[in-house]
Amino acid sequence: MRIVAHIDMDAFFASVEERDNERFVGLPIVVGSDPEGGKGRGVVSTANYKAREYGIRSALPISKAWEYSENAKRAGKPPAIFLGVNMRLYSDVSSHIMEIVEQYSEEFEQASVDEMYFDLSHLGSFEEAERACKKLKKEIKDRERLSCSIGIGPNKLIAKIASDFQKPDGLTVVTNSEAEKFLEPLTIRKIPGIGPKTEEILNNKGINKVKDLKKFELGELKELLGKFGGDLYLKVRGIDNTEIVEEHEAKSIGEQETFMQNTLDANVITERLNHLCTTVFKRFAKSGFKYFRTISITVRFGDFETKSRAHTFSENVKELSVLEFESLKLLLPFFDARENPKRKAIRLVGVKVEKLS
Ligand SMILES: [Mg+2]
Repeated sequence: MRIVAHIDMDAFFASVEERDNERFVGLPIVVGSDPEGGKGRGVVSTANYKAREYGIRSALPISKAWEYSENAKRAGKPPAIFLGVNMRLYSDVSSHIMEIVEQYSEEFEQASVDEMYFDLSHLGSFEEAERACKKLKKEIKDRERLSCSIGIGPNKLIAKIASDFQKPDGLTVVTNSEAEKFLEPLTIRKIPGIGPKTEEILNNKGINKVKDLKKFELGELKELLGKFGGDLYLKVRGIDNTEIVEEHEAKSIGEQETFMQNTLDANVITERLNHLCTTVFKRFAKSGFKYFRTISITVRFGDFETKSRAHTFSENVKELSVLEFESLKLLLPFFDARENPKRKAIRLVGVKVEKLS
C-alpha cells in the first residue's frame, strides 16, 4: 500500500519574519515587493493570517495590499507591516525543516521552498502515518517555532489537496477508499493544474465542483482541454501515479545543533562548532563532491532571532582545517558587539558548505 504525505508550511515567509522579530508578533505582515506608499508595482509573496483578515493574500498587487492596509488603519486597526523578500533566510529555514522531515522518510521531494512530499509507505498503515506526522508537526514547532499543515493520502495528488484542507496547523488523512468521495464536493480550482483560465472555461459549462467533472467521458474532457483533459479524467477520480522525485544534487551540506541550554560560553560553543564542522566534513567527503567554495554559519539566539553569515572563497577549497578556521572566524563576532550588542545567549549554531563541485 502506498502512503504519501505532503507538508506545506503555513504562511511561510511571513511566519519566519514574525518568529524572528518580536515586535511583529500578532501584527499583520505582508512579505513582497516594496509598496512605495501605494505606487509599488509588484505583488504580495506571502501574507500572514492577520493580514489575510484585511483581504491581503499571495499574488495580490502590492498597491492593493497597501490600500487594504490603509483602509484598516482608518478603521482603527494596526496597519500591515510590509517587508521585502529575504530569500536567503527562508531557504536556510527551509533546509532546517527538510533535515527534520528527512528523518521520517527516505523518499523525499522538495516541491518548493516551503512544500515537500515524502513517502510513508514503510509505516504500513494510515494510522501509523498519522501518528508519525503528528510527531513531525510537534518537532517542527518545538525546534523551528513554525506551524505547518500536512496531508496524507494514497498518492501525491491527494496528499497535496489534503494538506490544504485544514490550514493552518492542519493534519488531514485521506485513505485510498475515501479519496474519490473526498474530492467530489471540492471546487475544481483545488485540483492542481486547474488555473484561473481552465476554471473559467469549465465554469462557463456549468462545472463548479469536482463531482460535476465526473459526468464527462474521457473523450469529452480531452476535446475540451486537450491532453490535460486526459490527466484530469484520472485526477478527479483520485488517481495519480506520479513518483516522488528525489533531488540527488545536493546544493549544500549542513548540520546544526540546538543546545540543551542557551549559552554564550565561548568554550562550549566553539567546541560544538568544531564538532559540527567534523560532521559536515564527513558528509562532504562521502558526497562525491571534491570542493566547496562557500562556508556559512547560522546562529540563532534565545529569542529566535536568526542570523546567517557566509564567506565565499575565490578558489575551490577542500580541507577540514579551512572549514574549521573559517567558520570560527564567522562565529567570533557573535560573542561581542559586532553581531551581538545585547549579549544574547545562543540557542543554536549551524555550519554549511555550499557551492559544491
Ligand atoms: Mg505554504
